[in-house]
Amino acid sequence: MTSSAPTLRDLAIADDYDPNSMPVDKAREHIRSFLTPIGTVERLHIRDALGRVLASDVASTVNVPSHDNSGMDGYAVRHADLAADRDVTLEIAGASFAGKPFQGALKPGQAVRIMTGATVPPECDTVIMQERAQAADGRVTLGAGARKGQNVRLAGEDLGIGQVVFRRGQLVRAAELGMLASLGIIEVDVYRRLRVAFFSTGDELVPLGGSLGPGQIYDSNRYTLFGMLQRLGCEVLDMGVIRDTPEAVEAAFASAAQAADVVITSGGVSVGEADYVKQILDRLGDVLFWKIAMKPGRPLAFGKIGTAHFFGLPGNPVAVMVTFYQFVRDALQIIAGRTALESVPTFKARLTAPTKKAPGRTEFQRGILSRGPDGEWTVRPTGNQGSGILSSMSQANCFMVLPTEQGNAEAGALVDVQPFEGIV
Ligand code: AMP
Ligand code: MG
Repeated sequence: MTSSAPTLRDLAIADDYDPNSMPVDKAREHIRSFLTPIGTVERLHIRDALGRVLASDVASTVNVPSHDNSGMDGYAVRHADLAADRDVTLEIAGASFAGKPFQGALKPGQAVRIMTGATVPPECDTVIMQERAQAADGRVTLGAGARKGQNVRLAGEDLGIGQVVFRRGQLVRAAELGMLASLGIIEVDVYRRLRVAFFSTGDELVPLGGSLGPGQIYDSNRYTLFGMLQRLGCEVLDMGVIRDTPEAVEAAFASAAQAADVVITSGGVSVGEADYVKQILDRLGDVLFWKIAMKPGRPLAFGKIGTAHFFGLPGNPVAVMVTFYQFVRDALQIIAGRTALESVPTFKARLTAPTKKAPGRTEFQRGILSRGPDGEWTVRPTGNQGSGILSSMSQANCFMVLPTEQGNAEAGALVDVQPFEGIV
């Protein structure tokens, strides 16, 4: 890839660009090349930085641990006072407790009783665990064969002064909070939270609280979107159900793009509906309409409206979730400033029942992953794989990712699975 990102126009004239048969990986790649991370930085107490992305590198100003300390309860000694082949008895000169170091000077032939985490006296280089020591009458007898340096945790062995501990773009999770605290850092620079606006279109949709007329359904997509966005730590702006008229839809796009970093819609991008939405988006922004070689989730629109990123997800409830997991989740994290994204964990599990699949597209079927008594991971399809069967997402705990070329899969076959938990 070149260093300057391609424009939508470049993409549309590229040789292998076929909007009507877009492989999943290709769509991911295109999306990734059009993302602009937000740059706004704020300084927060580390506790408020949980779930945020660091906006600058963090270097250590101290050693962690700050002093040589014991990894065990036992006796701190000079290794030179021990013998390789026989027990040795040393005089106990005093004790070193965590937070209360031994104060005196240690003479040769002496040992110090020491607790885990307590400072190792400067004369000592080795700690013998108490299970290998016998103390009586102010003296301690220590077993043979100790290794020099044993059970001593050296100053700076976790983090050294000046060491870059975290790079800009790092997500702050529980471990990072603990590490920041261990360095004595109270505040960090983070990017502000992503603002994501979303709305639904469709005259059949009724917001909660309304009563259903003939042929009408409650709008559920705004709630799955709300849930997924909230779990990702986004600031959400729910714009409701927008009436299916060009004027209302245009006004909704314009105000969403003004207010948010990312605009997400569901419905209205499938053939037949796409036409008027397409005209509006051509006027307001730079948006590509794709048919992705996947199921569920075939129609997808992506681009920019003004400075806002836009994802036009399909209307079917399962397709919304699948396309969110597969395309939107990673994109949001990149826009939020993350640099090193781990890929979603994927591994093989054994199918417990056959499942139907047509070659030619990647399918994201819903499965229930469990571990059999023999320790092997197995996956059971949830049943009806229709793109409107939202209960399949609720029953499932993973996607079974069936690759493009694959046809029907038999019971006993190994298939790729992607667990949901921890993903959004
Ligand atoms: P569309 O992509 O607009 O043609 O919608 C495809 C299917 O998804 C239709 O059955 C719609 O009724 C349904 N659908 C669209 N939007 C929503 C929504 N917000 N909540 C629930 N179902 C929806
Ligand atoms: Mg519709």
